[in-house]
Amino acid sequence: LAQHYLARIAASQLNAFTHVESNLTLQQAALADQRLAAGDATALTGIPIAHKDIFVTRDWRSTAGSRMLENYVSPFDATVVEHFNAAGMVTLGKLNCDEFAMGSSNENSYFGAVKNPWDLRAVPGGSSGGSAAAIAARLAPAVTGTDTGGSIRQPAAFCGISGIKPTYGSVSRYGMIAFASSLDQGGPMAQTAEDCGMLLNAMIRFDPKDSTSLERASEDFNRDLNKDLKGLRIGVPREFFGAGLAADVEQAVRAALAEYEKLGAILVDISLPKTELSIPVYYVIAPAEASSNLSRFDGVRYGHRAKEYKDLTDMYKKTRAEGFGEEVKRRILVGSYVLSHGYYDAYYLQAQKIRRLIAQDFQAAFAQCDVIMGPVAPTVAWDLGDKADDPVANYLADIFTLSTSLAGLPGMSIPCGFGQGEKNAQRPVGLQLIGNYFEEAKLLNIAHQYQ
Ligand code: GLN
Repeated sequence: LAQHYLARIAASQLNAFTHVESNLTLQQAALADQRLAAGDATALTGIPIAHKDIFVTRDWRSTAGSRMLENYVSPFDATVVEHFNAAGMVTLGKLNCDEFAMGSSNENSYFGAVKNPWDLRAVPGGSSGGSAAAIAARLAPAVTGTDTGGSIRQPAAFCGISGIKPTYGSVSRYGMIAFASSLDQGGPMAQTAEDCGMLLNAMIRFDPKDSTSLERASEDFNRDLNKDLKGLRIGVPREFFGAGLAADVEQAVRAALAEYEKLGAILVDISLPKTELSIPVYYVIAPAEASSNLSRFDGVRYGHRAKEYKDLTDMYKKTRAEGFGEEVKRRILVGSYVLSHGYYDAYYLQAQKIRRLIAQDFQAAFAQCDVIMGPVAPTVAWDLGDKADDPVANYLADIFTLSTSLAGLPGMSIPCGFGQGEKNAQRPVGLQLIGNYFEEAKLLNIAHQYQ
């Protein structure tokens, strides 16, 4: 299996990987073979996996898609990587992503854009664009991603694969290079919900090394896959179907909802009134946290350092000016601004208050329904370059994924067809499933019944 995928990766032109080290992969595969022969295997032993280059690894470089960490090798493995190693999975390498996971098209990577395997003119989505492209092009059977405001769900949608962002706090953030700590959450991406469930079983564990890790009884996330959906109440938020939603995406999503009705589900009209506010709220809170998290890249402790400088301050300035890309700098500036004296109350505190109201809207909705469904993104994947110089256009495209992250809820994307029109006919559409806290098993059941 490892050889098969390494050969496909070597032949691929998608730029999905940032670092492949065949020898290391084959060594791990040999160990997995030994475990299989010794009868000491888990369900995942010998199955290849690749990691978003946000998870640190001891044996592969960990770049976060940034020049700042171009040659950085971590002295330890992220907890998530440790869990998969312990299960006997075989690492294929590291996956390209937007720099520090900031982006929606994977065009913010220092290592270049990733191409969408369905249509090489299209972006794969972001920030876990390499992860999604690798699954879609069959370069890996399983990958990790991270989702701060949609970065698992949106690239999964754009590449026609399945991905789940679990409840905030479920998956350890230890060794996940931080972007916005109160939102960042790792999760699996794969071809099916069932595969995602198998990966979640290894991924979700309490971790004392992560202060926001939740301590809960372990569960089998695939235990309910075959439950029927009779009487399931699906909340359809009005605000997810308004102006701005492309007609072809709406058509594919509505067709999926009709399919669920055939499976016995009931559609319930619900409202998430503050959906629109999730964009300004997220784009205050996420940059604020990023500006703090990214202060550690100072040219002393990690990665890049400018070659010539006059004094310490000059070294910081040159290092950060050289090491960070445009979007990262923009967010550090915005974040520092909204946290600064005199602006904190007007921006950051306000945003935190609205964040709470957004979470309350979801709880009101879940009084009327068992799951919420809608589109993942307002359009199918756009063309490479189309929005590369327009940050606000990128931010607006996150409208349907941000609120789930702000509330800390689990969200999933599964493929539900293709766009219409000559160009869009090759571009997948994603259906979003949002559950209440800790309802990952329910989401996987609902997704599996459709798949
Ligand atoms: N597109 C969003 C952003 O640019 C979300 C990214 C993410 O989830 N990591 O911040």
